[in-house]
Amino acid sequence: MAEYMSMNTLRFIIHEMLQVEKLCALPRYQDYDKESFDILLDSTKAYADKALFPVFKEMDEQPARFENGKVIVHPSVGQIMKDSGERGAIGSTFDYEVGGLQLPHVLHSAVTHIAQSANNSLPGYTGLTGGAANLIISFGEQSLIEKFVPKMMKGEWAGTMCLTEPQAGSSLSDITTAASPNDDGSYQIKGQKIFISGGDHEYSENFVHLVLARVDGAPLGTKGISLFVVPKFRIKEDETLEPNDVITAGDFQKMGQKGYCTTHLVFGENDNCQGWLVGTKNKGLKHMFQMMNGARIDVGLTAVSTATAAYHASLQYAKERPQGRRVESGGVKNASEEQTPIINHPDVRRMLLLQKSITEGAIALLLQASLYQDMSEAGPEEDRVRYHDLLELLTPIAKTYPSEMGRVSISNGVQVLGGYGFCTDFPLEQYYRDIRIMALYEGTTGIQSLDLLGRKVIMKNGEAMKHLTKEIIETITNAANYDDLKPYAEELKNASKQLQEVIMHLVQYAMKGEHERFIADATVFMDFMSTITIAWQWLKMATVAKTALITGNTTFETSFYENKIHTMRFFFKYELPKIHGLKVTLMRPESLTILEQDQSILA
Ligand SMILES: Cc1cc2nc3c(=O)[nH]c(=O)nc-3n(C[C@H](O)[C@H](O)[C@H](O)COP(=O)(O)OP(=O)(O)OC[C@H]3O[C@@H](n4cnc5c(N)ncnc54)[C@H](O)[C@@H]3O)c2cc1C
Repeated sequence: MAEYMSMNTLRFIIHEMLQVEKLCALPRYQDYDKESFDILLDSTKAYADKALFPVFKEMDEQPARFENGKVIVHPSVGQIMKDSGERGAIGSTFDYEVGGLQLPHVLHSAVTHIAQSANNSLPGYTGLTGGAANLIISFGEQSLIEKFVPKMMKGEWAGTMCLTEPQAGSSLSDITTAASPNDDGSYQIKGQKIFISGGDHEYSENFVHLVLARVDGAPLGTKGISLFVVPKFRIKEDETLEPNDVITAGDFQKMGQKGYCTTHLVFGENDNCQGWLVGTKNKGLKHMFQMMNGARIDVGLTAVSTATAAYHASLQYAKERPQGRRVESGGVKNASEEQTPIINHPDVRRMLLLQKSITEGAIALLLQASLYQDMSEAGPEEDRVRYHDLLELLTPIAKTYPSEMGRVSISNGVQVLGGYGFCTDFPLEQYYRDIRIMALYEGTTGIQSLDLLGRKVIMKNGEAMKHLTKEIIETITNAANYDDLKPYAEELKNASKQLQEVIMHLVQYAMKGEHERFIADATVFMDFMSTITIAWQWLKMATVAKTALITGNTTFETSFYENKIHTMRFFFKYELPKIHGLKVTLMRPESLTILEQDQSILA
């Protein structure tokens, strides 16, 4: 079977870099140890090899579709729901009391990385179900938890998140789906939601939709949005199901992730759709952010996993494809020699190393963010707010960097295959199509960038940024202990200084009341700050690798650690210097994108 991810790299990050075993000293995770983590990783890989990877291409060739009023999906959707329910994988991070396994988020993310690398269309079905169940557990009344959560955790019922409407995509404040109170405490729901992932198919008995809607008379904007649980089928007194006036109007046909259905749902067309309030009235968007933040990390994981699988496919090809000869000293090529595998050409190695540096840097960041989540929920009381702030700050980057740079990475993978990269006999073109959605859903790159610069960087007077800077300085200090890492530590120190300079410069606009100017180049800032963040992760990995080599305390072959240091050096030579150009753009006083009187520029 083709390799689609590296278990060794995953283990290196989990055990040697993040030392997740330390979590087991916390009361919440005391039932786990290194061995049980490894068993989980290995069994997930075995499952992914057997059940997920083999249907990856087939699901693209047999896309989800709407036929005779039904959404048809690949049968493996039913299988993963069932298997995940049996394995306890849906809601594995939940408390024991509600049937969860109290698995650390960082392990859950590692497992998700394995599954998504094998097949980026399938794990979303269970991921959304877990996210929806978690929302009910966190904010719903006990009766709602009892009614819906157990069946969702068993994989019998599916969950979705229903935010988007035709006129309300990025701008959720414009949601119009209505909720009118009934006498029994429930609500009549009326409206339509589009682009709903996993919204309907024949392999789940029921669909539990978490719907954002507006209670009659609610204030305009985000302060008037409430959260409801709206099942496709209502549960009658005798526990049987009856239709709840949720109609599937269609399934969007897409350029990628074709195995993952994307439905158009109509609620209450016959005025017979019942929903139940989850949490506090008018606080629905705030509650929904719990699921959205989790989904943002999941999208980042899906993006990096898709790019990881593409990297491994292009690596394998590069080792096998003979083409041309190496340039010998004097610039001559010996035509009588056999052709060399393309992996030996510097430009091909550059493309492969670019993919390796982007994907491994990104997975390190995602696992780091997940570890911060664990520490924010179960770490020592006095540290929890700090870890929470770090997670909040890094979430938009953890979603966006893999989505944007993962696409660049896969494009280089296509390039490695030459013309074959464009052909359907090889998987690169599918990965290239599949990853394109990641920069769009769960908040576009533009919206994530506004969140990063306009909210997270400045939140609590820059407190989260201070925490991040401290983490970066710690990495720099550790790296500087080794002479050959010192120059890279200096470079990151300089980059971190430039980050502060750019923030100070941009914040001045906000202080002068020029808010649109402040956020106008937020996406450029995202690119700038993400690159520095990934450089931080690489220096951290390189320092751990160096320590292992020097102490001899190694789990893998020496070359594995040397390769990590080499890839860090690659990132610092080819990627980190991009920040200088981005800084010039961010500091330049010209304002060229803000709408003025004359709109004819774009005519
Ligand atoms: C395959 C797929 C699956 C999806 N799954 C779900 C799901 O399960 N549940 C769900 O609720 N939704 C889902 N969505 C919807 C998705 O989250 C939205 O498509 C996305 O948020 C963007 O909204 P939009 O398409 O209306 O684009 P728009 O909001 O119209 O954005 C268009 C462009 O304008 C930019 N833009 C918009 N507003 C601003 C602004 N204020 N400042 C700067 N730039 C701005 C955007 O960045 C973007 O580039 C899915 C979408 C797809 C395609």
